[in-house]
Amino acid sequence: MKQVYFDYNATTPVHPEVARAIHPFLDEFFGNPSSLHWAGRKVRSHYEKARGLVAQIIHAAPEEIVFTGCGSESDNHAIKGAARSQRDRGNHLITTVVEHPAVLNSMRYLEESGFLVTYLPVDRYGRVEPDEVKSAIRPETVLISVMLANNETGAVSSLAEIGGIARERGVLLHSDMVQALGKVPIDVESLRVDLASFSGHKMSAPKGVGALYIRKGLEIENLIHGGGQEGGRRAGTENMPSIAGFGKACEIARRDFEERNHNIDSLRKKLLEGIMSDVEKVTLNGDPERRLPNTINLSFEGAEGESLVIALDLKGIALSSGAACASGAAHPSHVLAAMGIPEALCRSSVRFSLGPENTASEVDYALSVIPGAVKRLREMSPFGPK
Ligand code: PLP
Repeated sequence: MKQVYFDYNATTPVHPEVARAIHPFLDEFFGNPSSLHWAGRKVRSHYEKARGLVAQIIHAAPEEIVFTGCGSESDNHAIKGAARSQRDRGNHLITTVVEHPAVLNSMRYLEESGFLVTYLPVDRYGRVEPDEVKSAIRPETVLISVMLANNETGAVSSLAEIGGIARERGVLLHSDMVQALGKVPIDVESLRVDLASFSGHKMSAPKGVGALYIRKGLEIENLIHGGGQEGGRRAGTENMPSIAGFGKACEIARRDFEERNHNIDSLRKKLLEGIMSDVEKVTLNGDPERRLPNTINLSFEGAEGESLVIALDLKGIALSSGAACASGAAHPSHVLAAMGIPEALCRSSVRFSLGPENTASEVDYALSVIPGAVKRLREMSPFGPK
């Protein structure tokens, strides 16, 4: 059976060039970069090269990059570390209701130790109004966390404007940029963020590596205590193969940025237009314009999202209902609910997220099976349009 992967926001295949870049670190370059001897020395320069490549794609300096184990760790480190280090200045934090659980649950954890958190609502496109952020700032606010791109809908936030507000008011700004890396241009200087989170496995690198941007001069508390790796900011022997892969993936994402995103954007449009013309009662969730080039979130009225995912899986098509980490949960998506989408439509939503390996013939194949799958589910449902 044909297999089509439309779940790139959950994770991505490792790019062949990335796989090749990793390989030497599994045999010849096995050393610990902290070691003084030849085996360590052999690895060290590659390690710093990877840091430079990650820094380059977000317009940061290499010393502003800390390698972590994943995007969730970067979010935890940024939020807990910044909040705790600013505790004597205040105990108020601001975020939005549509953040990834790595942000929301870090915030909830801090609430247990005396921090107060404002969870800002979003508009129907899933974006927070910069003015709402401005109004929520109090004298005791020490940190704002707003994601650059949403993992479920692909909506891109007004981060530069929020960055301007945060700078003006002297409040630190963190942004979860896990889904944005490689898909939209990122310049941490012009976005005026102090902290930003990234993850390798969302952009053609392997799992087990992430990065945290910490603006030069900013000191935040550590999350993982131990040895002095990462300039004393993140303990643990460096995951050299994944770090080398992450660096290579950033290099490729920069090199191929225009072509790759142009192709993905045309495939997304083809898929969206095809579904919209062949299936009735479908709505697009999220901003139709300011969005990631690869993500489509649709509600198929009267067809249950999870059932559609299973039905399409039987045809070899992989996609997701809601965020991958929340799949299987009985609750409808917190992101769609926050956008004011009625519960029944939240439950009938699915996310297609495309990537560089997808082709027009895969989209054609999907378009040949989706209408039939939706029709069958609607016929079985007591609520579906017949
Ligand atoms: N933030 C966003 C927006 C995500 O989409 C994800 C993963 O789905 C994460 C953070 C967590 O990243 P990781 O899986 O690397 O921990």
